Amino acid sequence: MSTVIYAQDMPLTSLSAANISLPLQSHLQYFFIASSLILSLICFVLARSLRSYNMALLALFFTLKSLGILVGGELSVMVFFTDSAELLNVEGVLFILLSNVALFVFTAKLFTLKKRQETIYNTLFYMCFIIVVGVSFIYVIDVVDTMFLIQLQTSITLITLYCITKKSAKITSENRLLLMFLLVVMLQLGFNFLAYLFDYLHYSPQVITQLDMLSFWGMAIMMLNLMGRKYYYHLENEKLVQQEALNSARASDLAQQNLMLLQEDSQEQLESRVQERTLELNIALQELEEVNRELEEINTLDELSGLYNRRYYDQKILAEFRRSRRNLTPLSLILVDIDHFKTVNDTYGHLMGDKCIVEVANMIKSLLRRSADVGCRYGGEEFCLILPETDNKGALVLAQEICQSIRQHNICEEEHIIALTVSCGVTTYQQEKDVTPDIIFASADKALYSAKQAGRDQVHVG
Ligand code: GH3
Ligand code: MG
Ligand code: MG
Repeated sequence: MSTVIYAQDMPLTSLSAANISLPLQSHLQYFFIASSLILSLICFVLARSLRSYNMALLALFFTLKSLGILVGGELSVMVFFTDSAELLNVEGVLFILLSNVALFVFTAKLFTLKKRQETIYNTLFYMCFIIVVGVSFIYVIDVVDTMFLIQLQTSITLITLYCITKKSAKITSENRLLLMFLLVVMLQLGFNFLAYLFDYLHYSPQVITQLDMLSFWGMAIMMLNLMGRKYYYHLENEKLVQQEALNSARASDLAQQNLMLLQEDSQEQLESRVQERTLELNIALQELEEVNRELEEINTLDELSGLYNRRYYDQKILAEFRRSRRNLTPLSLILVDIDHFKTVNDTYGHLMGDKCIVEVANMIKSLLRRSADVGCRYGGEEFCLILPETDNKGALVLAQEICQSIRQHNICEEEHIIALTVSCGVTTYQQEKDVTPDIIFASADKALYSAKQAGRDQVHVG
């Protein structure tokens, strides 16, 4: 759309191989050819090093465009490949058409229009289609008319594009670029129209070509600026994305730290709660143990006398009997029975009788000096003393002490003086065969019975 073929100035056959030897019209043209080719080359090198498809398309566009202008400047390229006069005649138009196609593909790719703005993409696609169809018109109608039609078509489409973009685009940097780009192409078109008009009005071809070159460079500079801006936006976007990623990483770091603090906190709370509970549990256990011990004591102690009870005696005699057998140590047993206690009860009453039982028990307790000795209230006013590791002599001495001590100790209660005596039966187990705790008890009981029979207040050994 940039170069106009000067069909009026030249017959169709005038662009022949012979014409390429014609000198270019001015130094400016030499400069233009060299610089535009250098620009294309730089774009190709950039496209390769950046691996940018867009840059390659732009380079292609610049090349085709500058070749088109070159042909306008009466220098043929196709002459190196063909000598068909008809093809050589339409060479300039062909380059311009192809450059237009390259430009449209470039536009679509640069702004990813297919994804983002389908209407614009479709418009560009149909425009390319019209251009390709336009190529076939080159043979049918006059070259100038074909050019006119194509330029008209391109201009209308671009103006439509501009309107659509302006209407539909949200104000983003990308869409601003698109608008700028369309404006660039439109300016280029303006130049082309001007050139076409000058040509139509038979202005000097040199002026037209210079106008073409000027517009080409204007467009090239603007498009390169556009690419630069796009690259800049791309970098900015990347920076923004990186910043966002950094921010979200920081946020997640912070959240993680908070979570850890929270976990530590709850862990500490949990630990202190567990400690509290453990302490409470330990206290409860101690209390329970104490209660159990008390219960045990209550279970094993006789309420009235404070000595151990019958149940405890049964357990203890068995344990001591086994220990004695194991250690081969003697085990003695003393049975103490208060004499004529029925008479005490009958004379002073049961309450007084109880008090007497307590007094006797206390005296027995005070006489049991070894910690291993166990005093039990066997039942009623009978007491049973287990003496581990005590031989018959030791047991006899203790029984006599008890007998004597109770005899000498009068019980004074409620203005009554009660004199009590006890009888004792003593026995000692000394590893005899076939002896059981019951047999030991029976032996002591027998001795007690014997003491009672012998007149009471005495000790008998069984
Ligand atoms: P003996 O000299 O033969 O032992 O004559 P005793 O009267 O003591 O006869 P025995 O030992 O058989 O009598 C036991 C009496 O002790 C019977 C009961 O009245 C009395 N007694 C038994 N247990 C208790 C008690 O817990 N409190 C009181 N006050 N009296 C009891
Ligand atoms: Mg009795
Ligand atoms: Mg008695």
